[in-house]
Amino acid sequence: MLSFWEKSSLLEADIAIVGGGLVGLSVASSLKEKFPSKNVTIFERSALPYGASTRNAGFACFGSLTEVLSDIDTMGSEAARELLFQRWMGLQITRKRLGDEAIGFLPAGGYELVESEIDFEEDVYKVNQLIADFIPDYITSCNDEKLRLGIVAAGDLYSMKDEGQVNTGALMKAMEHYALQLGVIIRTGCEVVNVESDSLKIKDRFRGEIDFKADKIFVCNNAFATSLLPEVDVKPGRGQVFITHPISGLPFNGNLHVDEGFYYLRNVGDRLLFGGGRNIDFQTEETLEFTLNNAIQKALEDKLKVLFGQDFHFEIDQRWSGIMAFGEDKLPIVKHLYDNVYVAAKMGGMGIALAGFIGEEIAEIMS
Ligand SMILES: Cc1cc2nc3c(=O)[nH]c(=O)nc-3n(C[C@H](O)[C@H](O)[C@H](O)COP(=O)(O)OP(=O)(O)OC[C@H]3O[C@@H](n4cnc5c(N)ncnc54)[C@H](O)[C@@H]3O)c2cc1C
Repeated sequence: MLSFWEKSSLLEADIAIVGGGLVGLSVASSLKEKFPSKNVTIFERSALPYGASTRNAGFACFGSLTEVLSDIDTMGSEAARELLFQRWMGLQITRKRLGDEAIGFLPAGGYELVESEIDFEEDVYKVNQLIADFIPDYITSCNDEKLRLGIVAAGDLYSMKDEGQVNTGALMKAMEHYALQLGVIIRTGCEVVNVESDSLKIKDRFRGEIDFKADKIFVCNNAFATSLLPEVDVKPGRGQVFITHPISGLPFNGNLHVDEGFYYLRNVGDRLLFGGGRNIDFQTEETLEFTLNNAIQKALEDKLKVLFGQDFHFEIDQRWSGIMAFGEDKLPIVKHLYDNVYVAAKMGGMGIALAGFIGEEIAEIMS
């Protein structure tokens, strides 16, 4: 049973947002900046965001050489360029908004180990030309760095300009503070179970179902969007990582992409965070379950030995998984769906960079 006060003051907003991940927070912030007089409420189903934003690897990246080449092949040059631009611009927005110190941004450098044959002149030129107006000389060859970084695996090393790292926990904390300071209300422990054109139904552990009125509704729950909006076609993709205990004398510093980005490795101080391997078992990994797949965890351990040599010693401290969202192509879905309902989903494996752009884009669509 609701009280008079709850009914009269606490169950409506101008703008309701479903999902308190990085995209929900960025969308809320952009909308509040653009329309300061509107009240904005975010509904997050869990005590902490429970998707990808607090569980990722913290690469502040735009796309590796072979990934971009593959995107050009599958989506065409224009869409591949647009995706790179959105990631690049999105990261600028978030860095400017929150400041590099608050998000633990380090210009650590990004590398890709390319094991397949590529035509250096033609392929690197193609990628560099595509985005020369916003990241000039994006890709360079840097084989001479392999030794310094301790990489013994076969393949050629390339570096991606302007790639960095964030501290994922610090980024989320700073983004929440930012949204709160703007006046956004964040309600946690609130699972949205139904979306109508002017209201949401929220499931609350103590009160049961509650109706919440909103003039505009933005569904920003990424991999979970289809359960609320069946017409939004996103497929979940689980990402798994582990982090090692500190490794004395660790030579590697920066980010490393392997196998078109299906494996990703970075240092976190003197630890290594290593993830990926979804391509080993796409079918099993198309899931919303936050469990681990032992075969993939084992593949990650083996791959680390291939990269740094069989004598490379490491001990794993923690393993975890998070859920990403994919679809037919790699461009995010950002649109006005119907009546007062909008959606921002399908952030793929690079939502850290995209989030800032998505917030601005959706605020633009709404106005
Ligand atoms: C292991 C891993 C590594 C990654 N590494 C990187 C990386 O290095 N760099 C990078 O850029 N990206 C990386 N990503 C991807 C990146 O984390 C995501 O693209 C990004 O976090 C997506 O943000 P989001 O807010 O759209 O989605 P999410 O973070 O999934 O947020 C959605 C939120 O909606 C909530 N929710 C769901 N359903 C409901 C509901 N019905 N009612 C209320 N709330 C709901 C969820 O609890 C969740 O908090 C990685 C992802 C994973 C899993």
